[in-house]
Amino acid sequence: MARFLPEGPALAEVVAHRRAIHRHPELAFSEHATAALVESHLHGLGFQTERIAGTGVLAFLTGTAHDARSGPTILLRADMDALPIQERSERPWRSVHDGCMHACGHDGHTAILMGVARMLLAHRDRLRGRVAFLFQPAEEGAGGANRVLEDGLLVRTSAVAAGGLHLWSEAPTGQALITDGPFMASMDLFEIQVKGQGGHGAIPQSARDPVVAAAHMVTAFQTIASRSTDPLEAAVVTVARMSAGKALNVIPDSAELGGTTRSFSKATQDVIEARLRAIAAGTAATFGVEATVAYRRKTIPLVNAPLWTDVARSVVPSVPGVTLGPAGYRTMGAEDMAFILDALPGVFFFLGAGNPAVGAIHPHHHPSFEIDEAALPMGVAMLSEWAVAALERLAS
Ligand SMILES: [Zn+2]
Ligand SMILES: [Zn+2]
Repeated sequence: MARFLPEGPALAEVVAHRRAIHRHPELAFSEHATAALVESHLHGLGFQTERIAGTGVLAFLTGTAHDARSGPTILLRADMDALPIQERSERPWRSVHDGCMHACGHDGHTAILMGVARMLLAHRDRLRGRVAFLFQPAEEGAGGANRVLEDGLLVRTSAVAAGGLHLWSEAPTGQALITDGPFMASMDLFEIQVKGQGGHGAIPQSARDPVVAAAHMVTAFQTIASRSTDPLEAAVVTVARMSAGKALNVIPDSAELGGTTRSFSKATQDVIEARLRAIAAGTAATFGVEATVAYRRKTIPLVNAPLWTDVARSVVPSVPGVTLGPAGYRTMGAEDMAFILDALPGVFFFLGAGNPAVGAIHPHHHPSFEIDEAALPMGVAMLSEWAVAALERLAS
């Protein structure tokens, strides 16, 4: 049954790709060497490639099953970018670029999808349609998914469904976390400028104190998740930055607040923004100061379609080493695959890559982040099996 599990030279190639990409991490929209590596691998296999959103790479594979030519297209997506983090590692494949590191596993995602291209090419007689391979730039907060959509992803691929995975250090190697409906959170960022009027710390009556006003805002924001959103809907409002003043006896002119909000539905996301703005304005009015709110919508919730999670669960038994993890797993982390799954039904799942034996024990975005490379062939097999099964499901 292990038809898509790379072994021997095919396995060595996936690991080598992952290490090469890890050694040469590139930030959002600067994935030049990574894209070139992807292209040279795909060209070597006989694929034609096109660029999308600058450093993104798109390729297609049409199956040779009897009805493949008239069959639909499904999309497989991997992200390619690294993070502005200084790596702490003694491993031979540690980053050679100071202050830049693959600390989220996107090196693994890219290597996995390169491996999927090889495996599906070798088994294209099983494909009852066409597979589009998307190597997406700039997942880490820079809007790569939106850019590929703006660059015509839907029209250029005519894909009817999308699949992808994230290696996940918080789960043991091989554990697949596949959840129907909302799976990852929306993520927004806010900054609030509170302007008052400074004065002597001993003569507060002639000042308009922005510090007290900002402190009330921080406290009142805590009521959004407890009093304004549906108690059955998850919501987070975190004030992560607060700054004002310097001297111990001077009331400053202004104070600044900043933070992030998370939710699992667009309706909750709307409530959070509206309440945050209203509380800032109302509190400012109460204390005679002015509040300017900059609220940036970054990512919508990532929502999986039950049909496609079902297909993902159905292929788990075909992949040696992969087991189904607890049902209903969700995280307040965010992912811009959410925008692709807003445009196309599909599934995004986690594949455990945590293993203390190889030091894969750190959370994502940690300077010592590492994945268990044993998860790489499992990822290749999972996505390959999903693509075959998805096209089969569409044909039946
Ligand atoms: Zn990340
Ligand atoms: Zn990531």
